[in-house]
Amino acid sequence: MTFDCRSCGACCCNTDENRTEKYVDYVEVTPRAALSRHPALLRRLTVLNGDGERHMKLRGREQRCIALEGTLGIEVSCAIYQLRPAACRRVQPGSRECRRDRHERLIE
Ligand code: SF4
Ligand code: SF4
Repeated sequence: MTFDCRSCGACCCNTDENRTEKYVDYVEVTPRAALSRHPALLRRLTVLNGDGERHMKLRGREQRCIALEGTLGIEVSCAIYQLRPAACRRVQPGSRECRRDRHERLIE
């Protein structure tokens, strides 16, 4: 099995567990994140929760990150790849988390 992120995007969507728990805080954008130095992008792509923490917005029935472009499982890209938050950099292709996310989004 190959783990090509450019034809996947599964880990750029809210997880089934979060959906079940109606948990919509997704990838956190901390004040020290590179993205935080871009106010216009912050306004467009992120949302503050009740505790004042900033997260990437989710959109659509797929609950995908607003910065994810393309079609899940076919061809995708991150519109802010160079500025993506730290959490986005942690998921390793082929890891347990990666395999779970791919399974949940029916990408085998
Ligand atoms: S789920 Fe795995 S293969 Fe898919 S984009 Fe994330 S790290 Fe890459
Ligand atoms: S910021 Fe980019 S890498 Fe991170 S979840 Fe969104 S689309 Fe994926």
